[in-house]
Amino acid sequence: MSMKYKETQNYVNGKLVNAQTGKFLDVISPVDGTLLSKVPLSSSTDLNQAVAAAKAAFPGWSKTPIKERVQVFFKYKTLLEKNLKELAALCTEENGKTYSESVAEIEKSIELTEFATSLPQLITGEILEVSRGVECRTEHVALGVVASIVPFNFPSMVPNWTIPNAIALGNCMILKPSEKVPLSAMRLAELLKEAGLPDGVFNIVHGDVDIVEAICDHPDIEAVSFVGSTKVAKIVYKRATANYKRCLALGGAKNHLMVLPDAIPAMTAQNVAASMSGCAGQRCMAASAMIGVGNIDHIISKICEEAKKIVPGENLGAVINKESKERIERYISEAEKDGAKVLVDGRNTKVNGKENGTYVGPTVIDYVKPDMSVAREEIFGPVISIMRTNTVDEALAIENANPYGNAASVFTQNGGIARYIIDKASAGMIGVNVGVPVPREPFSFGGWNDSKFGVGDITGKSSIEFWTKLKKSTTKWNPEAGINWMS
Ligand code: NAD
Repeated sequence: MSMKYKETQNYVNGKLVNAQTGKFLDVISPVDGTLLSKVPLSSSTDLNQAVAAAKAAFPGWSKTPIKERVQVFFKYKTLLEKNLKELAALCTEENGKTYSESVAEIEKSIELTEFATSLPQLITGEILEVSRGVECRTEHVALGVVASIVPFNFPSMVPNWTIPNAIALGNCMILKPSEKVPLSAMRLAELLKEAGLPDGVFNIVHGDVDIVEAICDHPDIEAVSFVGSTKVAKIVYKRATANYKRCLALGGAKNHLMVLPDAIPAMTAQNVAASMSGCAGQRCMAASAMIGVGNIDHIISKICEEAKKIVPGENLGAVINKESKERIERYISEAEKDGAKVLVDGRNTKVNGKENGTYVGPTVIDYVKPDMSVAREEIFGPVISIMRTNTVDEALAIENANPYGNAASVFTQNGGIARYIIDKASAGMIGVNVGVPVPREPFSFGGWNDSKFGVGDITGKSSIEFWTKLKKSTTKWNPEAGINWMS
């Protein structure tokens, strides 16, 4: 089969280099099955080169004043804007999401970069005269070489959760893109170079399990940020922290929407349908389970109407690969076998002219019981599983019993109930009449429970704590101040 782009290479010290293993995986477009590229499975030797380059760049970069460092990100932001259409097209090609979803992803990358440019205003330390003539002062100091390991579902946005903040704060980075979508990250590297980032400050090493393990074990990597499934987040968190590294590992999700009978039907239905099907359901913030509290039949019928307006290949993208399509369809069949009712069925979807694409249509499953697999597990496809309860507390009990804790939403016009759910839901990000409650910058992103391991959040002000360490100095310059307990 002919290949659309050339073989992907690692990016080390500002240059493209071949991995030393000679092993590759195919990069296939979920849109239509086109072979886009081959991605190298790098070895620890390749990682060592990248870490050495980052380590060599660190003294110069970390000593560059932050007001100068963020100038690179002002330029990077302009370049993301200038190249938005091309970046979005590439994102769609390798990930399968629709073009307008890719545009939104690049726009979010721009917003994340904008936040990083404000870091000089946020990072000021503290200073206080703690006793006569004696001052205590804190400063945020960069960690050194850090690593960011990312998933397939946001080829540009998730790397940009970490790249601008970590680097603007003075660190040098190794990015390990998802082997399923390595191409967008390579364009980000080109733009960072064009923006004036010195060689060695940002590096990319491709690969899968072996390279992730090598990152967790590398003695010169100070911190590891991970975004992906809970299974791997646990492995990475355990291994990186066992090697005494700082680690923040974001995992999977099973987000619940609670819908009350007083919810505005049209708005609720549109939000539910958009939340469960956006990015083909491959979002850690997607609505996956819905709990009707009382009689909400009138809203469920509207959700079905909305779902039927969603057309695969038009306003619904592909799922990442054949295995994903099969897994999602298996979940739907299992629910049906267990007695649930499939109201809108996305199985066996084909898109004309894109027969090799991997599409699943929007799917609405009603009369789901809390012990069914579609109610408990992350499906990562355009599927909503509807359960029914009589009370808000029963709904909350189902939400709370789930091990994940990324997001939860409530649809109601009752402010008291909304506040009660904000208090009682066991999730890090809560929506009220909002289907995808992603906090916008400068508010930070991060779930609870099995959706995140480690302290703090990955974006916003919280990221300052993760990407820096505090230096505390106590100084006395004034002998006339006399002797006191600090002397
Ligand atoms: P994944 O866990 O399979 O892969 C993530 C990264 O880990 C990739 O770079 C991959 O190469 C690497 N990896 C895979 N298996 C590994 C192993 N056994 N050991 C070490 N490294 C391994 O995740 P994915 O399929 O790429 O992404 C989808 C998942 O990511 C979903 O569960 C989704 O909810 C989650 N996600 C979470 C968030 C969040 O903010 N919590 C955001 C985006 C995606």
